[in-house]
Amino acid sequence: MLEKIRAQKTLISVLCLVVTLAITVTAGIDFYQFRNYQEVIIPGEGVTGSFMLSEYLPALEGTYGDTMVYVMEGKTEGPSMLVLGGTHPNEPSGHMAAITLVEHCTVDAGTLYVIPRANNSAFTHNDAQEASPHFYHIQTASGTREFIFGSRATNPLDQWPDPDVYTHQPSGQSLSGSETRNLNRGYPGVADGNMTERACYAITELIKDKEIDMTVDLHESSPEYPTINAMVAHESAMELASNALLDMMLDGVQISLEPSPSTLHGLTHRELGDFTDTLPVLMETANPSHGRLRGATNEELVLTGKDPYYLKAAENGYVWVPYDETGVSIEERVARHLTGIHYLCEEYGTLYGKTLSIVGIPSYDELFNGSLGDYLN
Ligand SMILES: [Zn+2]
Repeated sequence: MLEKIRAQKTLISVLCLVVTLAITVTAGIDFYQFRNYQEVIIPGEGVTGSFMLSEYLPALEGTYGDTMVYVMEGKTEGPSMLVLGGTHPNEPSGHMAAITLVEHCTVDAGTLYVIPRANNSAFTHNDAQEASPHFYHIQTASGTREFIFGSRATNPLDQWPDPDVYTHQPSGQSLSGSETRNLNRGYPGVADGNMTERACYAITELIKDKEIDMTVDLHESSPEYPTINAMVAHESAMELASNALLDMMLDGVQISLEPSPSTLHGLTHRELGDFTDTLPVLMETANPSHGRLRGATNEELVLTGKDPYYLKAAENGYVWVPYDETGVSIEERVARHLTGIHYLCEEYGTLYGKTLSIVGIPSYDELFNGSLGDYLN
């Protein structure tokens, strides 16, 4: 009898081990494939060159923190702009706006630098327990294209463990430990710091070396977060941003302007203005797919922004953007970013007498009423 029970227990143990191994191997393959997935960007004729960010910090070379910088140089001289997409890879409109510039636009005068995957490491995983999709798909002339929905922060495989308290350099500001992997808390960066601080350092050095006139950092926020459908500008960029904002409002695009808090450190709109001569502006659109009130989190939510729980929240006055059953499509969100970039370029010309002329940016209405895939290769 005793032997029979022993044999049964052994069998159960072996079965448990086999099931555990099967889950571990399957999940491991999935993690490995996602970490090493090669997202395809198809540069258009406007791209005149490219280089890796590690040119500005060799320690990044060969790491997941290194990323491609696309150069779009005009035929004539003019001012320059750096566009950062994918600072937070769970905010797809910034990533897609940057890719649209690279694939669809050309530059007549001045130079545009575009980094679609600013925190490259954060594109190699997504946030635990958020049930986010790994990918979303967009129909283009060349077929169905696949893009990554990543994480807000650097992959723990690249930077771990988080400290209990993150101390920002050089301000000494204390933040929650997990913010040590947030690219938009690491500027101006540290040359021998962690991967996130190194990426920030290299971006800051790029701006200094190329004497980049304007920097635009593209983001999305939850509809219940107050800083939304907004531009946040360093005091040096306030006149430029407010003029561009008025142009957007005249086009019927609702947007607000926020001053960069002088005591909140590590963000592009604060540190790039304090430590370089660039005029930094950050833009936010509304993204229900990473809001706290959302229901099912899937590819459709990422692309359409339609969610019954946000609809309910909006009816009860809990969101900061106009929200109805039409959702907030990826087209609307990318159109906001691109329209902002267009008017920042125009108003820079009015203020400083030199215009960065980007050709091919669709108008807000064209993109809002059309399909993002029409502007991708
Ligand atoms: Zn963000």
